Amino acid sequence: MTAAFPPLSPELGQLALDRAAQGERLGADELESLYHLPLPAVAAVAHDLRMQRRDPDVVSFLIDRNINYTNICNVGCNFCAFYRTRRQSDSYTLDYEQISAKIRELEAVGGTRILLQGGVNPELGLDYYTGMLRHVKAHHPTIQIDAFSPEEVLFMEKSFGLSLDDLLDTLMDAGLDGLPGAGGEILEDDVRQKAAPARIRSGDWFRIIDAAQRKGLYTIATMVIGFGETYAQRVSHLLKIRAQQDKAQREYGGNGFFGFALWTLQTEHTRLHGKAPGATAHEYLQQLAVARIALDNLPNLQASWPAQGFKVGQAALYYGANDLGSTMLEENVVSAAAGHDRHAATVRELIRIAVDAGFTPAIRNSRFEILSYPDVDAALGRLAANPEAERGVGAN
Ligand code: SF4
Repeated sequence: MTAAFPPLSPELGQLALDRAAQGERLGADELESLYHLPLPAVAAVAHDLRMQRRDPDVVSFLIDRNINYTNICNVGCNFCAFYRTRRQSDSYTLDYEQISAKIRELEAVGGTRILLQGGVNPELGLDYYTGMLRHVKAHHPTIQIDAFSPEEVLFMEKSFGLSLDDLLDTLMDAGLDGLPGAGGEILEDDVRQKAAPARIRSGDWFRIIDAAQRKGLYTIATMVIGFGETYAQRVSHLLKIRAQQDKAQREYGGNGFFGFALWTLQTEHTRLHGKAPGATAHEYLQQLAVARIALDNLPNLQASWPAQGFKVGQAALYYGANDLGSTMLEENVVSAAAGHDRHAATVRELIRIAVDAGFTPAIRNSRFEILSYPDVDAALGRLAANPEAERGVGAN
């Protein structure tokens, strides 16, 4: 039936939206046509699908901390304001005790996971990475370690003379629990080539993620919009993720992507500033709704408050998102290019965002299993008693 209409026509868009509302899987042209429909119509279907696929009452989040163990990097992505060269005075590499001190702060607020990532630092040997993992496991046995983007893994693979399988086995033996899917951006090499010529290519990104999923590691899928990519390239990115998820569910006992995180390109202090268009709140919410419709095999979509601020992040809960990501305690990569200092959220702030939007907040682990339901009355009571504590919800 869809062939009766020219590609991307409003008629095709409406038909596609009707099919999505029935729970049917959409193809590339159908998904692309959704960008040409009024956003409220697309959002309504996306939200319905979210309510069907995850507990309709609950919005979850994770108490965790980002730890960026080094900011020295030789990849030099044009969109990155975080990295430094070895000679710059504010370059750093953390020692294990500095990492432990950060984890103790996380443990003090009930955190359960660290996201351990850094630049591609050619001075680090395999011993640094395995020693870091072993140190964390020995001193913080209850903390989940999700570490290393595919970019870092590719560097280790090339540098340390190990096959990808042997490398991942070595890291897992040392304590690695998960391999976050950072660096997805747009998994189309035309876009990647312009934004970061030395960046990991899409084929390697999927090769490394596939191996991680095969070995049972935690992964999530990521997407960044605003490079000037086309709708077709965005759809292609989503369909590649959907295909990988199909494969993982078919071949790896369901161990695929546990979640999907979308954010908008931040260009402050980067070489792309003034050259890449970025993306507005409308574009972000539209892309989130399209992602919810496209990714029919991936139930957990995160709202991006670090890039969009708390207000748009909260609105995202009605555009397909069912999760508020994590507290982070410390975030250095997105915030370095964001032009604001919002790089962490308190548990109380995330509770308020969920409750005010009409949901029950729940604390989860990195695999999206609910660990507990926080005491909302106590959290919001403290807010009322301390107006200063409310600053975060409207801060950006
Ligand atoms: S995004 Fe990552 S790989 Fe690229 S320059 Fe920044 S730290 Fe390096």
